[in-house]
Amino acid sequence: MEGVARCRTEGCIKLVFPALLGEGVCMDHYLERVFLQIGMAMETCQQGRPFESGTFDWLLSQGEFAAATLANKNSGATSLHRTRLLEMLLCLSNLNEYVRHHSVVLAGRE
Ligand SMILES: [Zn+2]
Repeated sequence: MEGVARCRTEGCIKLVFPALLGEGVCMDHYLERVFLQIGMAMETCQQGRPFESGTFDWLLSQGEFAAATLANKNSGATSLHRTRLLEMLLCLSNLNEYVRHHSVVLAGRE
């Protein structure tokens, strides 16, 4: 299939949504990666370790992606993807709250 990208993850034959071409992975692997990053970020915060501001900004922009995908009826996201995207938004807002209320140090930001 020309012009259609396949997921970069080894062994995965799923197609990459146009909105995810920059990431180069299918929605399933994308979600897996974001949840992994959120989990690690939460752990970093709870341990009081400084947290890369680049990672934090990346996570926040994934929230924008999730919101845009949820708002777009033609995004190709299945109902399971939508549920996961909503869950992602909730996790991100929890993380954001945590960072705000616990004076988490964002490394690389003055
Ligand atoms: Zn994949």
